[in-house]
Amino acid sequence: MFARLDPAFLDSPDGSEALSILRTCVHCGFCLATCPTYQLLGDELDSPRGRIYLMKNMLEGQPVSRLTQRHLDRCLTCRSCETTCPSGVQYGRLVDIGRTYVETRVRRGPIEVFKRALLKNVLPRPTLFRLLLALGRVFRPLLPRHLRRKIPAYRSPGPWSQPRHSRQMLVLAGCVQPALAPDINASASRVLDRLGISLITAPRAGCCGAVAHHLADQELALQAMRRNIDAWWPFVEQGAEAIVVTASGCATEVKDYGHALRHDPVYCDRAHQIAALTKDISQVLLEEISNNELFNKENKLNQSVAIAFHSPCSLQHGQKLKGVVEGLLERWGARLTAVPDAHLCCGSAGTYSLLQPGLSRQLQSNKIVALESGHPDLILTANIGCLTHLASATDTPIQHWVEWLDVCLAQQHPCLP
Ligand code: SF4
Ligand code: SF4
Repeated sequence: MFARLDPAFLDSPDGSEALSILRTCVHCGFCLATCPTYQLLGDELDSPRGRIYLMKNMLEGQPVSRLTQRHLDRCLTCRSCETTCPSGVQYGRLVDIGRTYVETRVRRGPIEVFKRALLKNVLPRPTLFRLLLALGRVFRPLLPRHLRRKIPAYRSPGPWSQPRHSRQMLVLAGCVQPALAPDINASASRVLDRLGISLITAPRAGCCGAVAHHLADQELALQAMRRNIDAWWPFVEQGAEAIVVTASGCATEVKDYGHALRHDPVYCDRAHQIAALTKDISQVLLEEISNNELFNKENKLNQSVAIAFHSPCSLQHGQKLKGVVEGLLERWGARLTAVPDAHLCCGSAGTYSLLQPGLSRQLQSNKIVALESGHPDLILTANIGCLTHLASATDTPIQHWVEWLDVCLAQQHPCLP
């Protein structure tokens, strides 16, 4: 795509990156077929190619309006278009640049400003979020049905494995996950303990920055990233082998720290090192199980339940780990049901379900139909956002896959540590 960007923008830190991304797009339109918002709305401006045109026009200096902002807001940042694109267009990076640009030029209405400020200030604060969730649980019976279903019941995390191994890995605690599902990281600690790895947390680490990032507040996102790097760095220097993330959305974010902080002379190097050390929990298990007797082919977990796996966009499109968890589950004896259109987003997409509730509900309902088409007994997934979002719309039990693995291992090998 030919583009002649506004010289003032071209000289900015994002200018040359935006230009090189725009130039890779050859307008072929293959991405339209796999874009969830184009499938629902049928409007070219709600497709990747249409949004790329909108961003090109505004970055060339043409007037930018509320309409451009609306089409960018409707994008889920699911990055399904990146997986489809034959030219390797880095749409996710371009839309980040585009959103930041629009945010400084188009004023939002007071209700939207309030909503976005609330999300930015509440979700990344675990103590505040935990308090609000506890209040929500107390007043649950008084809430409307759709809100009631969004508040999950309390789940006991069970014991966290003691740090007894010489091999140690850090785990991202995150922001909403410890309150919504504290059992996920506790399960990961028990599974890794069986593999001779102790999972530890850095007390001062917190939200990965994705909440602010997706709300186009890049400065707030960078602050969260710097705080995490400072919190993790002493543990890395003491030999922590990896930063393990059990929420695929957060793993995508932390793996991008090097790029996000590339212009920061103080944090750039450490950000790249942290990003390189970051692994989704599925990557850790894939690497560790080959030599472990507990997971060899003769020692399958013999599951009789039928399982539908919901692969989050952040796992398959963001981290490019399509099929990894499904492969692990099958290797351990899980009976997986077919899930049509598995590449499409469930509508959770960070704060999307709260800011675009109509589109989000349509995607949620389509996803539930697809997941339940094979009559599973259980749905497994890999991201807290998808888990909570889907659980609010179905009675089929939903878990993180590492919780399922932890329970299976405990049943099969109860006497192991
Ligand atoms: S598939 Fe890629 S190259 Fe083709 S229009 Fe979409 S973004 Fe552009
Ligand atoms: S990120 Fe997802 S919603 Fe946005 S343009 Fe790409 S495919 Fe469509």
